[in-house]
Amino acid sequence: ADLYGAERKNSAGVDLTDAELMQKLAQEITAAASVAATSGPIIGGVEKVGKAEDIRNPAKTSEVVGKVVQASQADVDDAISRASRAFADWSATPAATRAACLDKAADLMESRRAELLALCIREAGKTIGDAIAELREAVDFCRYYAARARADFGAPLMLPGPTGERNQLMLQGRGVFACISPWNFPLAIFMGQVSAALVAGNCVIAKPAEQTPLIAAAAVKILHQAGVPGDVLHLLPGDGPNVGAPLTRDPRIAGVAFTGSTDTARLINRTLAAKDGPIVPLIAETGGQNAMIVDSSALPEQVVRDVLISSFQSAGQRCSALRVLFVQQDIGHKLEEMLSGAMAELRVGDPSRLKTDIGPVIDAEAKSVLEAHVQRMDREGKLIYRTKLNGAAGEGHFFAPAAYRIDGLNRLQREVFGPVLHVIHYAADKLDDVLNSINATGYGLTLGIHSRIDGKVKYIAERLRVGNAYVNRNMIGAVVGVQPFGGEGLSGTGPKAGGPHYLHRFATERTLTIDT
Ligand code: GLU
Repeated sequence: ADLYGAERKNSAGVDLTDAELMQKLAQEITAAASVAATSGPIIGGVEKVGKAEDIRNPAKTSEVVGKVVQASQADVDDAISRASRAFADWSATPAATRAACLDKAADLMESRRAELLALCIREAGKTIGDAIAELREAVDFCRYYAARARADFGAPLMLPGPTGERNQLMLQGRGVFACISPWNFPLAIFMGQVSAALVAGNCVIAKPAEQTPLIAAAAVKILHQAGVPGDVLHLLPGDGPNVGAPLTRDPRIAGVAFTGSTDTARLINRTLAAKDGPIVPLIAETGGQNAMIVDSSALPEQVVRDVLISSFQSAGQRCSALRVLFVQQDIGHKLEEMLSGAMAELRVGDPSRLKTDIGPVIDAEAKSVLEAHVQRMDREGKLIYRTKLNGAAGEGHFFAPAAYRIDGLNRLQREVFGPVLHVIHYAADKLDDVLNSINATGYGLTLGIHSRIDGKVKYIAERLRVGNAYVNRNMIGAVVGVQPFGGEGLSGTGPKAGGPHYLHRFATERTLTIDT
């Protein structure tokens, strides 16, 4: 079997350093931004119309990006009924046919690049660079899971027959999967969950984040156009109480894929455990309290560059983002000085402009949580630097990146989901305390190490319980099929997205024994 999906190339992406190409792309995106976007319950391939709410651009709240019709309880029931009926045929459809739908969807996404990029920018506040990376990841997920499905779901695994019988092991869809996805990767993670569940032979009910239903609707329409039957994939825009809760409570749901907060993952887990009927798997990818450890052998310029990317790119709204920088105390002050200089250069503002480094945070609530956090840090920590907004504020949810020195990890109980970096100085002989304090958070998503001492890198990597560790580079932007992504402990259940075992959790195994 092709374990690593080597038969499939990662998408080429866009050369961000090609100024002419980027200008052209920016123009295409501007032109595509005028297309009216809608989202509503898409049930049986038909988008419901009705009383709609505005979705506004987080960078400019007077701008309406599109309209959404929220799903009702009756829609939830209707979608699950239809999906349950469609399951038998879809799970019996050859894996190669299902995989072909994903490949087609990937091609369609590439051909509708400008429209999807414009939506990522205007609905989710992504910078152009982040939007390009997001589209690319969505395309990669589709092609990678298509390749994995052809390898693992195509033909049954033939097992030895020492008893004179013929034995086969097959992977098959579980039933109707609920896919509940976040706003921070409204296209990539949405597509990742949905395409995996579909290609493994499940029917899918997708509930996108309340903030980003428009991108999700575009993705669902693309999958339908690519050949996924209307009754096999349904979209239910809405919030947790009205859509998420009835969906996960329903006894007909055979599995849940969720990416979002640890608290919500626990809530879903409890809901699934409390209901009668089959024991239902939860695939959860949640938060982190991600650290980077920098010792005095590290190259400071490289560290500063990687810290900037890891903490502030995407306005820090990645679950992989760096939150706590542990720096060996002899280089701590020098590094903070260099970091301040670099933070002064960051341009916060309109994400649709090529020169912007950091766009808005997702909404007013996210911003006020972050503001409350920096107010606490102003009291409890020492401000290292706060980037100036330079007039970016306006009517958008802009939040200036900040860095604080704090005296210990216990100052941070929960994940701070935005561009706030916390710096802790440690003494060279206290490395073990650092490692213990990181493990003690219970989270285990990403880790950065900057050191030129191989033995130390190995020592740290072997002791920290994290899903993705990065050495002498930044710690975000895991690449599908190359850096399988996902954490442990409070950070998630596994399996890793974009990894060779992901599809298996969406499937059930059946052994067939035939007497010969
Ligand atoms: N996979 C993304 C990364 O490596 C993060 C995903 C997330 O934020 O949920 O940066």
